[in-house]
Amino acid sequence: MPQKCNVCPKPAQKAVGAKIQCSKGKCPKAFHVTCAIENEEVGYEVLDEVTNDVVLVDPPSEQRDANAINAANAGELQLIKKVKKFSVSCLCPQHNPVSSACLVITQSA
Ligand SMILES: [Zn+2]
Ligand SMILES: [Zn+2]
Repeated sequence: MPQKCNVCPKPAQKAVGAKIQCSKGKCPKAFHVTCAIENEEVGYEVLDEVTNDVVLVDPPSEQRDANAINAANAGELQLIKKVKKFSVSCLCPQHNPVSSACLVITQSA
């Protein structure tokens, strides 16, 4: 069974697309990334953004010496791919400390 976005303004889109799940324990609530960002009650936070340099061509040292002499191949050795990794936290309105903190303030005021 596909996860459904809990805050989608358009019911037809609830089950469509990739969702992220509430980070709290086994909470089954899920949201589209865009919905989580746009909805104030849903906590969405990028915890970590890592950019890794991946060297596609990494020949053994003997070959590297040979290639250093061969200047024509030097450009190919520079092939580097950047890979971005995101670690995100998503919290549904029930588990979002920000929205529950607002709730507490509202109630005590
Ligand atoms: Zn949605
Ligand atoms: Zn939750």
